[in-house]
Amino acid sequence: MKNEKRFDLLYEGKAKKVYKYSDRKLLVEFKNDVTAFNGIKKGQYANKGKINKKISTFFFELLNEEGLNTHYLQDYDENSFIAKWGELIPLEVIVRNYTAGSFCKRYGVEKGIKFDYPLVEFSLKNDDLGDPMITKDAILLLKICNKEILEEIVGISNKVNNILSSFLDNKNILLVDYKLEFGISKTDKKVILIDEISPDTCRFWDKNTMESLDKDVYREDKGDLINAYEALIGRLAI
Ligand code: UDP
Repeated sequence: MKNEKRFDLLYEGKAKKVYKYSDRKLLVEFKNDVTAFNGIKKGQYANKGKINKKISTFFFELLNEEGLNTHYLQDYDENSFIAKWGELIPLEVIVRNYTAGSFCKRYGVEKGIKFDYPLVEFSLKNDDLGDPMITKDAILLLKICNKEILEEIVGISNKVNNILSSFLDNKNILLVDYKLEFGISKTDKKVILIDEISPDTCRFWDKNTMESLDKDVYREDKGDLINAYEALIGRLAI
């Protein structure tokens, strides 16, 4: 990263570092690390950070253009972008259009079954507890956020689904499922979509071959992660 020492590191996660850029802005840096199964499987791939930053930027710009409030502000360098500072709401919002991953394991169903409508699930963002699933009532009773904010989160999650699913459908890609995170903007206290939208956090399948263009390639040792991510970039024409 440019002038690394200029910024204070606020947080280092499995795939990103977040720095204080200014009082109201963050610098989000994508690392080359990859992890799966809550950090049990780990690896490093040259260029992964750059690739995920590019894809995330592309999706955030698309959502911003469609009027959604995301944290993405502007490009910074190969691995990082400048974002609105959002105080994290410790939830992972999982939206599913087709069965896959932990949903199949949980209910013993095969993957690739299309849902009649998108399923929105929540996990508590807590690595020590392994991000346990949480119900809407538990979110409210534990005062993780209030009802209005929770409703807004669900509304934004569904809008993201409509925008990204139809965009990807045109590229012959299925948006199978994905994870979103939200924060409260320091500037205007509004709910903003934060974190990343990348093949690390979404499942993308080729519509014809059902081949994965996402982290399942790594989770399931189905081939080279970088090849799959670059194939996605090619399909998105970015
Ligand atoms: N996901 C994520 N971070 C997590 C858990 C899930 O980005 O900590 C994403 C995952 O990439 C997938 C979707 O959320 O696109 C649903 O994941 P699932 O619950 O099936 O769990 P997984 O199979 O990833 O263990």
